[in-house]
Amino acid sequence: ADTDLRYKRVLLKLSGEALLGDQAFGIDHSILATYAREVREAVEAGAEVALVIGGGNIFRGVSPEGTQMSSRAHADYMGMLATMINAMALQDALENAGLHTRLLSAIEMKEIAEPFIRRRAMRHLEKGRVVVFGAGTGHPYFSTDTAAALRASEIGADVILKGTRVDGVFTADPEKDSSARRFASVYGAEVIQRDLKVMDLTAVTLAKESGLPILVFNMNTPGNLRRVLNGEDVGTLVHW
Ligand code: UDP
Repeated sequence: ADTDLRYKRVLLKLSGEALLGDQAFGIDHSILATYAREVREAVEAGAEVALVIGGGNIFRGVSPEGTQMSSRAHADYMGMLATMINAMALQDALENAGLHTRLLSAIEMKEIAEPFIRRRAMRHLEKGRVVVFGAGTGHPYFSTDTAAALRASEIGADVILKGTRVDGVFTADPEKDSSARRFASVYGAEVIQRDLKVMDLTAVTLAKESGLPILVFNMNTPGNLRRVLNGEDVGTLVHW
């Protein structure tokens, strides 16, 4: 395996919403299969890959249509369960791609996932297993972005990779302004000050405290994950 990767141990955050594809609801399995191939390339290159996946395609705690819920906390727990459904689908796709995986849940569900135990997660990664962290942080009032920053900090990841549908952070909205340019890198302080919407503020603040860089990149471009690991000029690096 390649040893001169720019990043060796990575935490890849994928959004739940991206799993919709062209569907109005649920999971587009062809998208999961594409992600699984990307992750396999990364593992074959010698990277240790941990994943956090969102649940926005199924249920979100804070959403306009969620306002009929009587409590935010109750809705958030439902959101965390939604991430477990995605996590199980992702685990299946990764195994179909020939990878060895473990699913670790922040909420105990012993029939389908291991409980989250930090040292066990690290051991799995050392053994070349792909680790999927489900159920977010296990706590309401947080997001899966924050779960990504938390788990990345705990396992000593080299970087948080935020896989999105856009090529990175731009000077303006590239869909509205043709002169918009991508930042190759940007100071985290600027992300916070200008509210550049890389991740939510709790997640960005935690990444800052851990000194963890965040790399925002387009997960829908085949080969991009591998390019990121190689240190090629892909996406936007948020650094401190
Ligand atoms: N959630 C939570 N605590 C966590 C992670 C997630 O309460 O630590 C809930 C929250 O309601 C959130 C939902 O789970 O809206 C789905 O996660 P998220 O919105 O982050 O998913 P994404 O936007 O990435 O699809």
